[in-house]
Amino acid sequence: NSRFSVTFVRQYATIFTSGSVATSILQNKFTNSSILSFHNNDKPRQRTLYTMQSNRQGKSQMTDTTDSANIGGIGAAAAAPQHPHCDRQTMYDHQPNRQQSSRGTYDYDLVVIGGGSAGLACAKEAVQNGARVACLDYVKPTPIGTKWGVGGTCVNVGCIPKKLMHQASLLGEAVHEAAAYGWNVDDKIKPDWSKLVSSVQNHIKSVNWVTRVDLRDKKVEYINGLGSFVDRHTMVAKLKSGDRTITAQTFVIAVGGRPRYPDIPGAVEYGITSDDLFSLDHEPGKTLVVGAGYIGLECAGFLKGLGYEPTVMVRSIVLRGFDQQMAELVASSMDERGIPFLRKTVPLSVTKQDNGKLLVKYKNTETGEEGEDTYDTVLWAVGRKGLVEDLNLSNAGVTTFKDKIQVDTKEATNVANIFAVGDIIYGKPELTPVAVLAGRLLARRLYGGSNQRMDYSDVATTVFTPLEYACVGLSEEDAVKQHGADGVEVFHGYYKPTEFFIPQKSVRYCYLKAVAERTGDQRVYGLHYLGPVAGEVIQGFAAALKSGLTINTLINTVGIHPTTAEEFTRLSITKRSGLDPTPASCCS
Ligand code: NDP
Repeated sequence: NSRFSVTFVRQYATIFTSGSVATSILQNKFTNSSILSFHNNDKPRQRTLYTMQSNRQGKSQMTDTTDSANIGGIGAAAAAPQHPHCDRQTMYDHQPNRQQSSRGTYDYDLVVIGGGSAGLACAKEAVQNGARVACLDYVKPTPIGTKWGVGGTCVNVGCIPKKLMHQASLLGEAVHEAAAYGWNVDDKIKPDWSKLVSSVQNHIKSVNWVTRVDLRDKKVEYINGLGSFVDRHTMVAKLKSGDRTITAQTFVIAVGGRPRYPDIPGAVEYGITSDDLFSLDHEPGKTLVVGAGYIGLECAGFLKGLGYEPTVMVRSIVLRGFDQQMAELVASSMDERGIPFLRKTVPLSVTKQDNGKLLVKYKNTETGEEGEDTYDTVLWAVGRKGLVEDLNLSNAGVTTFKDKIQVDTKEATNVANIFAVGDIIYGKPELTPVAVLAGRLLARRLYGGSNQRMDYSDVATTVFTPLEYACVGLSEEDAVKQHGADGVEVFHGYYKPTEFFIPQKSVRYCYLKAVAERTGDQRVYGLHYLGPVAGEVIQGFAAALKSGLTINTLINTVGIHPTTAEEFTRLSITKRSGLDPTPASCCS
């Protein structure tokens, strides 16, 4: 009499039950070593964990490993400490045996500092290639006290919560569109911030938990401590229980970065960053978002979609480093949705008024004119700095550059046994998939006999603004810089997504372009797309571009109709021709 919905994440299964759980059925179903978690609807705050293991006879047996103080996840958040990971010293309290390995007398072959995307990928891959590995991870709380568990920025305060809040905002839009499609929708619907935050945080805690189980399964020793170098083979980890000295043949620094605060009065006291936003215990309300990079635009976008009033303060240009025509279209599409942009403006100070509102004084950098306004929240999205300060890198002889570490094409620092990977390295894209692949390849080179190096070129990415922007390869300006204006042809077009017609959504900024070689095979240098599900559209084209995509191949590829991705196969108008790139109909 139990109903199950079963989701497998690799070998993990989470089973939501109503009524009693028929363990025998489950035991028959899952024979691999699996973690099963049962959400008991009768006691929604209690989650029972079972480890499914094969016994000596080869039969599966379940071990109750319930640890309510250590579990996040749906229904368990209230029972668990707010940040279970940070409240524990280590997951496995054993000291490693000091063994003589072929690589020397060290506690470990490899110590990875940082349990984010890069560090975890590197640590797990190294173990799989036979290394003895420990991974240090420690999260310093933000000025307002926000902290989180293992998994790094992406999982806890970056890509994952951002995508979930973006989705929440898109759903709000979709609910309103649904009425045009014939759904009877209550027009008083509104979002519940605290419920959204709690759903997002519960998901994050479940990811934290699965990450820790994964580390245990893969035999990576996880140490919840802040590491600093003593010398090039020795580190001291500050644990809750005291200091612990750790030695390793090799270190990989994967500590990532944290948001910067501007150097103005009131910035730290009254402002928050993306490290705080996704767990904010009150509605953000009228929000000043300072910074027009990825983070600023994405946060402003979902805040608007959730019914708040964001304003974006732009110091110079929008989305520095991106194709500027596309960046301006992104900004215009946000402006069209009612998100104002304060251009060429910098903040001067933040003070708290008696009514609790934040008074922000600012200045136009061109005219020198000063202004002020009050906000409920000020969100700094002014860039990120590498977390080098606590590492005592000088003790190991590692040099830094602008809060980051410079590495060669093998991610090696200037010290032979110390490498760096992920957001901490200088001059490379700060993106999770880049960090994961670079970390994995580094471990394979260190322990798996591989020679493969990370290719940091042509990395696709998406800015999850309300109308999403994704791209891969060169911007138009970089293509012109590299190949000359006469060597570049730009194919472009506006398009009308079929699903936009019925709710009469604006198609004004649905636009895409292919930046290509002008002659010969017309090799594609870059693809840019502004529209729905941009990341899903560009991901496949990214593989094509890396494989040498040409305009000829693109326009001879049969599209999937009616999709927006097919618009890339219909590109026929060049900028140079001066012809109108606006489509007459959707199907010709
Ligand atoms: P960015 O460096 O991209 O942008 C920072 C913004 O803040 C710029 O607009 C900058 O202006 C402005 N700024 C800097 N200092 C000040 C100041 N003192 N006063 C006012 N404005 C200022 O940083 P983000 O924090 O947005 O993103 C960091 C990284 O995170 C990115 O490189 C990105 O790779 C990654 N990321 C990726 C995401 C994704 O893949 N979807 C999502 C979010 C982040 P100016 O141009 O004048 O310097």
